[in-house]
Amino acid sequence: MTSEPTSDAMRSREIVERARAVIPGGAQTGLRAQAYDTGDVAFESADGATLTTVDGDEYTDYHLGFGPIILGHAHDAVDEAVRRAIDGGVLYGAGTTPLEVEVAERLVDLLPSVERVNFCNSGSEATYHAIRLARAHTGNEKILKFEGCYHGWHDYVDVSVYPPEERLGERYPESDGMLSAAVENTLVAPFNDPEAVAETVREHGDDLAGVILEPIPHSVGCLLPEEEFLETLREATRDADVPLIFDEVITGFRHSTRGAQGEFGVTPDLTCVAKALGNGYPVAAVGGREDLLSQAGGDNETGVVISGTYSGNLPGLAAARETVDTLVDANVQDRVTDLGEAYRAGLGDLLSDRGIEGRVVGHRSIFSVQFGVTGQPRSYEDVLGLDEAKFREFAAGMRERGHFFTPNPYKRHHLSFAHGEEHAESYLDDAVAVLGSL
Ligand code: PLP
Repeated sequence: MTSEPTSDAMRSREIVERARAVIPGGAQTGLRAQAYDTGDVAFESADGATLTTVDGDEYTDYHLGFGPIILGHAHDAVDEAVRRAIDGGVLYGAGTTPLEVEVAERLVDLLPSVERVNFCNSGSEATYHAIRLARAHTGNEKILKFEGCYHGWHDYVDVSVYPPEERLGERYPESDGMLSAAVENTLVAPFNDPEAVAETVREHGDDLAGVILEPIPHSVGCLLPEEEFLETLREATRDADVPLIFDEVITGFRHSTRGAQGEFGVTPDLTCVAKALGNGYPVAAVGGREDLLSQAGGDNETGVVISGTYSGNLPGLAAARETVDTLVDANVQDRVTDLGEAYRAGLGDLLSDRGIEGRVVGHRSIFSVQFGVTGQPRSYEDVLGLDEAKFREFAAGMRERGHFFTPNPYKRHHLSFAHGEEHAESYLDDAVAVLGSL
């Protein structure tokens, strides 16, 4: 467990100032820069569940790099596997490698929808490839996505992730500079609305290329999918011969090695995985039905091009093989699920005992507290209106006491195999004080 941060963060402040002079916003992404809402911070090392700043301040880490770290930071076996792999070089870029085959075989064994698999380096690449495969299969251009689902930064999908209330139901581009034709071809519907799915497929069936969703939209905390919604999605897309794409970038190897598809018993046509697949090393994959994936694998003059200099790089694959084996052998997901339940129950009691308007959401190793809203959310609309300022205050108070998570109120806490009951006790004890002061 960590001690409370005591330094006055001198080096962090200096480094963030230098970062702002050379890096837009002083961090690699806008979301990372949001950490500065609770004070300048530059991190230098991490081990297990602990994240340490350049000033030597230690935090229990609930951010875990936006979720990839499922086994804990600096995991000995994963890092050792990577070291062994890179002793033989990092990249060959021709033919295949035994490691590539071994990780592909594991994904085919574990994920119900996966018969063939292609590796890449990030979730955004995986969703990009999946959509290209779906477009090639159907000859159509439009895709359907759901409000509140994030599938990466590219123009096909960075639409209506966090639309403002007055833009619900529209195609809302999340970034300046997006191609209007891409946005035009991205249809949006509310999550958990089977009628909207059926209607979109009826109306656009002839030009629909695919339907993509996070089976549990964690980009807005946690929306649990209802059975009828998943069944309608599966039936409507199967009837129209439109690929159903599960973006399991978070759910894939964080919640279960069989993915949400294994958990909910609904098999998509294409699946994207990343994040916890490699415990933080950059490795991702698109997998799915043999006929869909086999559109790629040609000679680059026919079929679908799936390409990437770093795809199948050895450190990423070595990390994936070791991470997947550890997840399977050590029953990691059962342990982090139990722990997640302890945090959720503890936080829920704190809110109700103190009469604080809010709710605790989550699934397995993920949880979040959302202030100013009650009842379990079913769709993005139910997340609108949460009290952003109060969450930021909560994040600042918890950070002062040694617990780090992003102050972004729509995101989530993650747990790893390195977190234990002592972390839960300390978090909940400190949450009493912080909630009492809000
Ligand atoms: N899909 C989901 C569900 C995600 O959460 C993310 C990233 O947060 C992505 C796709 C994009 O992955 P990456 O950031 O690796 O490109």
